[in-house]
Amino acid sequence: MFTKSIRWRLQLWFAFLLICTLSGFGIASFEVYRTRQLKQVDERLGPRVEALSRIVRGPQFFRGGRPPFEPGRDRRGGRPPGQFDSFPPPGSEDRRLPAIPPRDLLESVGGPSLPLPPDLERTLREDLETGIYFLIWNGDGTRLDASTNAPADLPRPPAMPPDSGPHFRTRDGHREAYEFNREGRAVLVGTSIATDLEARRGFALMLVGAGLSVLALGLGGGWFIASRALRPLQDISATASRISGGHLAERINVADTENELGQLAGVLNSTFARLEAAFAQQKQFTADASHELRTPIAVLLSEAQTTLARPRTAEEYRETLEACLETAQQMRRLTESLLELARFDAGQEKLRHEPVDLAEIVRTSVELVQPLAAEKDIKIHCDLAPVQVLGDEVRLGQIITNLVTNAIRYNKPAGEVRVQTRLDANTAVLTVTDTGPGIAPEDLPHIFERFYRADKSRTTAHGRTGLGLAICKAIVDAHGGTIEAQSAPEAGSNFIVRLPQPTG
Ligand code: ADP
Repeated sequence: MFTKSIRWRLQLWFAFLLICTLSGFGIASFEVYRTRQLKQVDERLGPRVEALSRIVRGPQFFRGGRPPFEPGRDRRGGRPPGQFDSFPPPGSEDRRLPAIPPRDLLESVGGPSLPLPPDLERTLREDLETGIYFLIWNGDGTRLDASTNAPADLPRPPAMPPDSGPHFRTRDGHREAYEFNREGRAVLVGTSIATDLEARRGFALMLVGAGLSVLALGLGGGWFIASRALRPLQDISATASRISGGHLAERINVADTENELGQLAGVLNSTFARLEAAFAQQKQFTADASHELRTPIAVLLSEAQTTLARPRTAEEYRETLEACLETAQQMRRLTESLLELARFDAGQEKLRHEPVDLAEIVRTSVELVQPLAAEKDIKIHCDLAPVQVLGDEVRLGQIITNLVTNAIRYNKPAGEVRVQTRLDANTAVLTVTDTGPGIAPEDLPHIFERFYRADKSRTTAHGRTGLGLAICKAIVDAHGGTIEAQSAPEAGSNFIVRLPQPTG
């Protein structure tokens, strides 16, 4: 489904945002344009409707109490010329203009029969030519009169509060301003806005065209950028599927990905490298373990077969059985060590975390290996400061026993072993130093690896499995500490274990 594709989702979201923005911008622009257009028309209609509304007022607005207009009376009856001052009439409500009979007014507009303020008359005449029309209704809703170009059947607009200024409306391609005066008469001035509407349509089309162009450009650009940005993902998934197919050495090409996905590719590459190394290590470990087990099994088989090949004396059977027993014990040590490491690997080894004195554990462990040291004429010197650590007493004892046993085994005859505990900047430090031949520089980085033996000729016959230091490292790691070895040929070896101090 394309809705599950990141690219499509980005594209849809981007399109949605772009459409919203462009629509908002387009609608706002169109509204500004339309408002400005109407304002221009209204600015022409408003003053005219106000002026006409004032002129068609009733008798109370006659200066000097002149009677209202009566049909049949002389149109010009008594109105002194020049009483209209100007258009639009300046002044306030109090400046009362003489009332003009509406019919006279409109006849004047249609033909030059009525003297009007010269400015207004000129304006109204010009208006007729530009399509502006006028209508006047009586208070009872009957049409009083209209300019010659006014629509014939236009009804009076809905009533408004008297003298509340011009009201505007758009009707059927026309813009109209109207006002009601106190006598209930309504004056309406209107004009066709067909050309404005045409211009508005043109503007709307231009907006839609521009909007669609920007939308197409934006979406095209967005698609291009999204494709480029997501290309590394295709590389990543292709590489991952090749790796899962067994090609562990495959890596993602991060050369041309400088963005966040490039960083992801870098992280994945290093993860793949670690996985490959772990896989290789696992393979090596399995091969080594089978090899290590095969040797004692071969010994067992050959001992048994040789002995059974012909009748033996009781003494010979005893010797064979003892040899088999020793080999079986060796196998047991090996399998126990392997199981121990497997438990550490799986995080299943449950360690205690109790405050213990490292110096005390060293004393106990040294006592345990003392017979072996005596056997080899090795002297063990202890320099023990009490140091508290949070850990598992048995497992810590196992580390010390292993290191001191190695220091005895890989020592020169009548050599020495020095065991020290001290506190170094909130870290408990244990060092085991010997006076043996040391470890060759090429072996030093590998001695904590499983089954690694510096002296390849040594076999398990001496009770060594090649797993002792690997187990020490697993225990130290589980305690959150570090272990390292320092050595130079013929200068002895120095093993340093650092363990964190209990906090608080
Ligand atoms: P092993 O069972 O062979 O002793 P370890 O894991 O304990 O296995 O040690 C790995 C190898 O590291 C040993 O085979 C030995 O070559 C080297 N080694 C360990 N301790 C010392 C030491 N104190 N002096 C010299 N070499 C050592």
